[in-house]
Amino acid sequence: MDIQHKIHADYPLQSANTLGFPCVAAQFIAIESEAELVAAVTYAQQHQLPIRVLSGGSNVLMAPLIDGLVIRIDIMCQQVTESADSISLALGAGENWHETVRWCVEQGYSGIESMGLIPGRVGAAPVQNIGAYGTELKNVLTKVRALDVAKGCFIEFSNNDCEFAYRDSVFKRLPGRFIITEVTLRLSRVQDSSIRYAALQNYFDQHNITQPDMQQIFDAVCAVRQSKLPDPAVLGNAGSFFKNPVISESQYQQLKQQWPELVAYPDAPGFMKLAAGWLIDQCHWKGKRRAHVGVYEKQALVLVHFGGGELQELLQLANDIQASVYAAFNVNLEMEPQLFPMT
Ligand SMILES: Cc1cc2nc3c(=O)[nH]c(=O)nc-3n(C[C@H](O)[C@H](O)[C@H](O)COP(=O)(O)OP(=O)(O)OC[C@H]3O[C@@H](n4cnc5c(N)ncnc54)[C@H](O)[C@@H]3O)c2cc1C
Repeated sequence: MDIQHKIHADYPLQSANTLGFPCVAAQFIAIESEAELVAAVTYAQQHQLPIRVLSGGSNVLMAPLIDGLVIRIDIMCQQVTESADSISLALGAGENWHETVRWCVEQGYSGIESMGLIPGRVGAAPVQNIGAYGTELKNVLTKVRALDVAKGCFIEFSNNDCEFAYRDSVFKRLPGRFIITEVTLRLSRVQDSSIRYAALQNYFDQHNITQPDMQQIFDAVCAVRQSKLPDPAVLGNAGSFFKNPVISESQYQQLKQQWPELVAYPDAPGFMKLAAGWLIDQCHWKGKRRAHVGVYEKQALVLVHFGGGELQELLQLANDIQASVYAAFNVNLEMEPQLFPMT
């Protein structure tokens, strides 16, 4: 298949990353099928171009110049298979995540209603095992289909094969190796009433909702997120900039003595997950602005780009935040968005 006519040289990506940093890709192609993907990868390999995979650009830190071939996955597909107790939903990697969640709620398919308004596309969702309000993608994902770039063939990953962890997966650990083309979810017509949405309780109280259904959970999530997080269309950002650090129970106990207000949640046995936003807040970063970048005034975990700046400014700010949190708490903050390109 000849795809050279679809390749653009010196392609601007400023509007293709939610931080809105200026960026130009040496070569760019948007592919709409697996056949086009194979042709694009073959082209890159023949011309010895590094391959960079892009979806919605909401979790990447784009360098000003990106060498190689940027491949954006625009594969669209939505296939439903219903059985007595569950719904299997196969989705093309290019489908919009939030619109998918909205559609599932409308159909009465439960399982992802608390992950509404997460920006980006379906194909990127397994990469960092997206999650919100106590739910993670790994809870509903059954299968991922991806091109193995090293072997040149398509393979299927079971949930286990994806090696999911908190904001992590095999796809994130081996960047560039697998290009996801399809994701299959297992949803249910019956809502799981055992899930508690403590973070949404205020909203439910205010709206006199005692037993929220999936539409009400979705509405609550969207309303709460809109009140707390900046809209990337208005203010450049990549959502949470740092992961919540996981520390040992003994380190947690030491910190708790010094900081009785410390915000933390139980993680794996023997470990606690600290609220990174709280740590940053204690170091007085919330609302701080440095020229074109800053820390969001309502949520210290979100770094923002006011426009006219460059990635380097944001990385310097992130570095200084990491240093001050380490100095105060002896805790390392790990960045959540991926440097693009990573090498
Ligand atoms: C306002 C805001 C709120 C957010 N809230 C949340 C949240 O609550 N929870 C959460 O988990 N995340 C959140 N995020 C982060 C982000 O939305 C998710 O990580 C999302 O899944 C990224 O999707 P994307 O399509 O934009 O991916 P991109 O940013 O384009 O890509 C992300 C990474 O995945 C790789 N990738 C993309 N597509 C593929 C593919 N098809 N195959 C292989 N690799 C691929 C890219 O190379 C890159 O390394 C938020 C971001 C913003 C801006």
